[in-house]
Amino acid sequence: MRCPFCAHENSQVKDSRPTEDNTAIRRRRQCEGCGARFTTFERVQLREITVIKASAHGGDLRREPFDRAKIEQSVSLACRKREIPQERLDQLVSGIQRQIETMGDAEVSSHTIGEMVMDGLRQLDSVAYIRFASVYRDFSEARDFEEFASTIVDAAGSDQNQREQIQHDQATKGKA
Ligand SMILES: [Zn+2]
Repeated sequence: MRCPFCAHENSQVKDSRPTEDNTAIRRRRQCEGCGARFTTFERVQLREITVIKASAHGGDLRREPFDRAKIEQSVSLACRKREIPQERLDQLVSGIQRQIETMGDAEVSSHTIGEMVMDGLRQLDSVAYIRFASVYRDFSEARDFEEFASTIVDAAGSDQNQREQIQHDQATKGKA
């Protein structure tokens, strides 16, 4: 496995054990070049699945192999600083992957995956949900985002912490 830090070709496995839910093997590796440590996961992939992406302006469809890591990245970006246990995020992503694999199609649209992530995040954390949705739905007008966010703030109800985080996100969105 190539080192992600220095691109050295070889690394040694220092430790290897199943994850909590027993759906993957987690390996701690050490680079033989720079000595950096990193982790890899070995998971079952039932079938080869292709993701179809429509370009934003209605041009050609692009196809790429399904990549769990991409879902992990957008989920953890949406959940940053929300103190949600990593285990919950892993479960969310595993659930989405399982749904896709059991749909029985060799191809899935990025739109379908996006909706699954939104569903999962909505149940997990309203702030993370809004963050993901605001990127995914690509609100073109600040007003659209505010309208959408205010419905979620209402849904968050008496959760003061969530209301504040949502309002903070709204306030900083225009400056980003
Ligand atoms: Zn290295």
